[in-house]
Amino acid sequence: MNSSSNSFFDSTFITKNQQVYLPILEEKKVELFIKREDLIHPFVSGNKFRKLKYNLLEAKKLKKKAILTFGGAYSNHVVATAVAGKIAGFKTFGVIRGDELGKNLKETIKENATLREAQNHGMKFHFVSRELYRQKTSFGFIEKMKNKWGDFYLIPEGGTNSLAITGCKEILTNEDSEFDYICSSVGTGGTISGLINSVKKHQKTIGFNALKGNFLKDEINQFVKRNKNWSLQKEYHFGGYAKYNEELIRFINKFKKETSIQLDPIYTGKMMFGIFDLLEKNNFLEGTKILAIHTGGIQGIEGFNQKLTSKNELIIEL
Ligand SMILES: *Cc1c(COP(=O)(O)O)cnc(C)c1O
Repeated sequence: MNSSSNSFFDSTFITKNQQVYLPILEEKKVELFIKREDLIHPFVSGNKFRKLKYNLLEAKKLKKKAILTFGGAYSNHVVATAVAGKIAGFKTFGVIRGDELGKNLKETIKENATLREAQNHGMKFHFVSRELYRQKTSFGFIEKMKNKWGDFYLIPEGGTNSLAITGCKEILTNEDSEFDYICSSVGTGGTISGLINSVKKHQKTIGFNALKGNFLKDEINQFVKRNKNWSLQKEYHFGGYAKYNEELIRFINKFKKETSIQLDPIYTGKMMFGIFDLLEKNNFLEGTKILAIHTGGIQGIEGFNQKLTSKNELIIEL
C-alpha cells in the first residue's frame, strides 16, 4: 500500500474475493467466498479502515490537527486510528479502559502489542478506570480532554457514526451482486449497516453478533432506512464479547489449516463458525453463493494468545 496520505484516503480499495473449497461446501452444493478486507493493512485491518476514511477526511475539512477516540487495551479500532491517523497527518489520542495499565506504561507497552503498535505510530494515551470509562462521552470528560490536549476531532468507540457507514458502503462492488448472501460479523453494527445500505435488492445480509444483547437491532435500524432484507444471528457469540471456548479455538485452527486463512477469535472466527453451523443445519439451499466479509482483527490475536497461555489453554496458531 502506498502510504502517502492522499492515495490512502482518496482512493477506493477493492479487495479480492477468495473462494474456499471444503468437503462440506461441496456436499451441500454451496459456494463460499471470503472478501479479504483483512489484507488492506496489517494493523488498519478491514472494516476499521473503511470506518475511518470519511471521518479523517471530515477532520481534514474541519482543519483539525488531532483525533481522539476510545477503546479497550486490545482494540482493533484504537490501533487502526493510530496508524491511519498518522498516515493522514494527525496527532492521535486514545482514551483507554483500565487505569491499572497507565501505572507502568513501559511495562504495559512491553506486554501489549496493540498499545505498542499504537504508540509506535504516535498515539498518546489517557488511561481511565472502568467507572470513568462509562462516562467518557459526557460533556465534563470531553472538556477535561480538551484542556489536556487541545482541540480534536472525536471518533466514537468502535468508530461507528454515519461517516463510518458511508465508508463501509465501499466494501461491496458491482461484481458482488452475484452473491445471494452477504455475511459479516457485528460489533457496534456500523459495518453491517454499510453493507445493508449497499446490497442489491435480491441479496440478503446476515450479521453474526460478536456480543450478547438485543440492542443491536435498534442501532442498525437507525442507520438503514429502506432495506429490510437483513437478519442477525445471535447464537454464535460464545458467551459475549471476547468470550470463547475451546471449540471456537479448534475451529479457527482447523480453518487456518484447511484454507490458509487466518480468522480472529473476537469477530471473524465466530462469524465463520456460525456460517458452517448454518450450512450443516441446511439453512442454505443448493446453489447458494455466499460472500463472507473478512473484517480483519488479526492484530488482536497476540494479546488473546497471551491470555490463553496464562490459563494454560489451547492457543490460536499463527
Ligand atoms: C470492529 C470489528 C467488527 C465489528 O464492526 P462493527 O462495525 O462495530 O459492527 C468486526 N470485525 C472486526 C475484525 C472488527 O475489528
